[in-house]
Amino acid sequence: MIFDALPILSVGRVKGTRALYPAAAAIALAVFVIDAFTMIDIAVAVLYATVVLLVASAGSRVTTANVAWGCVALTLLGFMLSHDGHYSDGSVARCVVSLLAIATTSILALRNQASNDTLRKQLEMLDLTHDAIIVYDIDDRVTFWNQGAERLYGWTAQEAMGQPLHELTQTRASTMPIDEIRSETLLHGGWHGELQRMRKDGETVFISSRCTLWRDDRGKPLAILATSNDITARKRMEEELQRQQDELRATIDAIPGMVWSSSRDGCPDYMNRRWNEYGVELADDVRDIWQSIVHPDDLPAMQAAWREAVATGSALETTARIRRKDGVYRWMHVGAEPLRDANGDIVRWYGVNTDIEEHKQTQQALERSEAFLSDAQRLSRTGSIATRVPECDMGWSDETYRIFDVPRHVTPSVELIAARTHPDDIDIVKRAHERALRGESHIDSEFRLLLTDGSVKHVHYVAHLSAPVSGKVEYVGALMDVTDRVTAQEALDRSTAELAHVTRVTMLGEMAASIAHEVTQPLAAIVTAGDAAARWLNRPRPDLDEVGLSIGHMTRDAKRATDIIRQIRAMAQKRDPSPMPLDLNALAREAIELLRRELEAHAIEVETGDLQHVLRVSVDRVQIQQVVINLMMNAVQAMSAVNDRVRRLKIVTHKVDDGHAQLSVEDTGSGISEENSHRLFSPFFTTRKEGMGIGLSICRSIVEAHGGRIWAESQEGAGTTMQFILPLDEPAKVES
Ligand code: ADP
Repeated sequence: MIFDALPILSVGRVKGTRALYPAAAAIALAVFVIDAFTMIDIAVAVLYATVVLLVASAGSRVTTANVAWGCVALTLLGFMLSHDGHYSDGSVARCVVSLLAIATTSILALRNQASNDTLRKQLEMLDLTHDAIIVYDIDDRVTFWNQGAERLYGWTAQEAMGQPLHELTQTRASTMPIDEIRSETLLHGGWHGELQRMRKDGETVFISSRCTLWRDDRGKPLAILATSNDITARKRMEEELQRQQDELRATIDAIPGMVWSSSRDGCPDYMNRRWNEYGVELADDVRDIWQSIVHPDDLPAMQAAWREAVATGSALETTARIRRKDGVYRWMHVGAEPLRDANGDIVRWYGVNTDIEEHKQTQQALERSEAFLSDAQRLSRTGSIATRVPECDMGWSDETYRIFDVPRHVTPSVELIAARTHPDDIDIVKRAHERALRGESHIDSEFRLLLTDGSVKHVHYVAHLSAPVSGKVEYVGALMDVTDRVTAQEALDRSTAELAHVTRVTMLGEMAASIAHEVTQPLAAIVTAGDAAARWLNRPRPDLDEVGLSIGHMTRDAKRATDIIRQIRAMAQKRDPSPMPLDLNALAREAIELLRRELEAHAIEVETGDLQHVLRVSVDRVQIQQVVINLMMNAVQAMSAVNDRVRRLKIVTHKVDDGHAQLSVEDTGSGISEENSHRLFSPFFTTRKEGMGIGLSICRSIVEAHGGRIWAESQEGAGTTMQFILPLDEPAKVES
């Protein structure tokens, strides 16, 4: 137990010096007195060896050597004094034995001191080391505690000596219990690892400890030597590093993307938690994980993108379908950036995959709906135009380009529209443009285009002001190619006009008797007036006043006949409709006049409302007259079989509201059955044997073409009221 004894020796040597030296001196004096002045016949000087040993145990090697020499001198002096020149063989032999004993003891003591010094120096060196060195016995009692241990734990050697080490320092190990560490040390002769201890001031220190078992010559465990380094700072740094790593990992795991990093050739060696949730795990036996998870159809493109990125060192940007754990492929955006070393060489790649399945589906749905819209636009020949005002930045759809017959790369503009507009309609386009610049909420205009090949297109443009985007006013509009519709409408109008003409001619045939009467009556009156004038002239004294009166009648009747013929001619003529402002009441009165004979022939009473005031409408005279006559003729025919009641035709006009005039033709005829009332205005519907069934259908076309409406109200067996309304011309000026 050298380590146990050495400190005690080293401490005791200094302290015991004062007590040992006098003792040694006393013994030396006593031995000398006995040896020199008594006659005892034994080798008393041998006891000087005790003096040497005492001094050696407390003094230095020099002191010991000096004391040894002193003892030799005292032995020789004592020998000479006690024998006074008479030396017997026995006394010489005793003296020699004593000297040998002193010499042997001194040599052994000096050697022992030499080795003790060596050990002490080594011990001092152990004290000097920064490491904490502790020796403790099998019961954990501290037997050595160097300065390093004092600095590390705060207890002095004196405080620590004899204390149970693990209890004193509250030793803990993160890897295993203390008992196991002890067993391990006893079994294998040593242990090393990290421990946590409490300092004297209560602070925790982390140490790296190395224990070595000390055995005696027979192999029996004596003590454990433990050297320890303070690794608290390193440990704290490691903990901080770990914390930062954990935080970084948690941050990376929290990123709503699948983060990965790869070696410079692009083989991933790290994937974050989201990959695991997705069902993708890195495996040692799989070198290139992309091959196993990327859709086979997308793999070549992705590999090509990788090769390109690796070759050029540029960022990777691609999309691919990646398989999930349930086998479903989802579209992902794959992006990666290279990390370079100081020389600019790529060391690693850091990438993020973002699930864009929803975005892709939305995009596909958008593409589909765009395709649908494009198809629908082509089929309906309707293009769209978005216009920002006042800059007039425009966006045209494909169909709009087709309608304007402009190549797709040309930038759309108002000037381009003007260039394509028919010269006669350029004012319409200008007005629409001005309305847009004024910010009107709704724009609706129809105009023609004159294309480069000379063809003409009719277009209908409708636009409305949409919610302002970023403070800009924008019109969203539709441009419809209505050429077919307009052409068809024109054809329809032509055939309607022709049909109306045919109907009028037919009607004139039916009115022949009435017309003939209307024409012959003024002619007969002219003849009568002519005769009268001749008679007034042939008198002996011609009465010129009467002649003048007769000529006046002739002129009036001739005018009337001319008017009737003009009306008949107009009705018989084939001509395009030409609207003009006229009085609906005057028109009704003329119609009654024309049919007066017909009405009289059928014994029909005519009743009118006040037809004298003016109801100004802007219409084609002949067409509206046709409508009124047609309604009256139908009424005449409906009443032809009525004998049980008065045949009465009532024509009434009035202003419906601020904007419309209404004309009603009411009869007391057969009326219309509920069933027939729905088909009344259908072409070729007739209940008459000689009827064609197109009269009312033409009437409806004419009225609706004038912006009006026609309908019937009837009570079967009691009569019918046919009525129509027309927009008033300048309603404010119309007298009521
Ligand atoms: P048509 O006179 O050649 O039959 P219209 O189109 O003028 O052709 O009339 C269609 C049908 O409507 C008539 O056949 C008749 O049945 C019915 N109708 C028209 N006006 C009257 C009316 N005022 N009273 C009863 N029926 C009428």
